[in-house]
Amino acid sequence: MSKDKSAKIPTPQAVRGTQDMLGDFADRFAHVVETFERVRRLYGYKRIEVPVIEPTAVFARSLGETTDVVSKEMYSFDDRGGESITLRPEFTAGIARAYITNGWQQFAPLKVATHGPLFRYERPQKGRYRQFHQLDAEVLGSDSPLADAELLVFADQLLKELGISEGVTLTLNTLGDAASRDAWRAALVEHFEAHRGDLSEDSLARLDKNPLRILDSKDPKDRPIADSAPDIDAFLTGEAQDFFGAVTSGLDAAGVAWERNARLVRGLDYYRHTAFEFVTDRLGAQGTVLGGGRYDGLIEALGGPPTAAVGWAAGIERLAMLLDAAPKDYVVSVVPDNPELLTKAQGIAQSLRGVSNGRFTVDIGYVGNAKRRVEVARKRGYDCVVFVRDNDNPAGEFHIQWLTNDEIVVENMRPAIQSALD
Ligand code: ATP
Ligand code: MG
Repeated sequence: MSKDKSAKIPTPQAVRGTQDMLGDFADRFAHVVETFERVRRLYGYKRIEVPVIEPTAVFARSLGETTDVVSKEMYSFDDRGGESITLRPEFTAGIARAYITNGWQQFAPLKVATHGPLFRYERPQKGRYRQFHQLDAEVLGSDSPLADAELLVFADQLLKELGISEGVTLTLNTLGDAASRDAWRAALVEHFEAHRGDLSEDSLARLDKNPLRILDSKDPKDRPIADSAPDIDAFLTGEAQDFFGAVTSGLDAAGVAWERNARLVRGLDYYRHTAFEFVTDRLGAQGTVLGGGRYDGLIEALGGPPTAAVGWAAGIERLAMLLDAAPKDYVVSVVPDNPELLTKAQGIAQSLRGVSNGRFTVDIGYVGNAKRRVEVARKRGYDCVVFVRDNDNPAGEFHIQWLTNDEIVVENMRPAIQSALD
């Protein structure tokens, strides 16, 4: 029996919470990554690559079973061999695993940077996706507050170079050392126990497992109780105070503005000292663009040697949304007068690429007559057309036509273009 030819195969849809990018947003995205690559080199962070998939235990053990990410957001599956695999929801745990696996202690202190896709099963909305992308920078094997300060200065410079530091605030806190943190935690539990009846259900669960997290609860029921909870300041040991002082004076020395946010926490026990977020009100509810802190106990929690470490991650999509626009690429289009000149035009395009030195892009329209190609160049906002003519054309072999009327752009491109045509 023959199939009904009119029965259409349903078109597959993109997975919910994923994005396809082309044009302006893809350009912004690429500009964020390129700027990050430039700035991380300036600070001496080595490029690192880690797998997208890890054994589930890497995240379950390092993030903690009680966090939202592990309990609700992970993409985990059994592979064909029956091993539980998870698509990475963050970079730090995988980098810590790699540090142990490869014995990178020998390189400590190790400054690394990476970027790429991450996966969290979240409710998709503006600035929140199921596949999203991060920039990530970490210093492994250093207990110096200089590392914390350097990472923050690096982050601040990145935002400045992207032109988005206006309206983005660095908020900073300290979680102290183990002794400070334990004393503060006990005081918090006492405070929250006294208000048990008024806490949200989520926070009641946190009270047993992860009381610090109540401090950054977004539930209006919890806010007055969280806001009236004791700060860590009264519990900081002298050592912890000195550490925080060294971080903040490093920021002041580098001219990086910051604000104290005594409610900023990282829930897990291995977080120490510095915790920070760069926040903005320009992205609605998704206001955190970059976050991080010191996680001195993480590598040990994964079974490695005791290793002090600190790092941050930033959402590429959120940074790209804050950009006014990606910087424009300047483009020269090479247009043959007639189809016989196509080979010659290809040669000229190649010479132009040889002298561009990053100043401009060289495009050779694939189809259409000369008139059509110039129309396309105009429509795409190209800056210059180089017409390629017959050798015996009395007006000369090449003709440059400027489509831009920006004199500075013309002066910047003209000498190179001229040199390729001479
Ligand atoms: P949020 O409070 O917005 O859920 P988070 O605390 O889960 O953020 P981190 O795990 O610290 O975020 O990740 C660092 C950065 O990665 C965030 O500041 C944000 O810019 C970005 N990010 C996190 N989750 C997503 C997501 N689902 N979609 C897009 N960007 C994200
Ligand atoms: Mg989250």
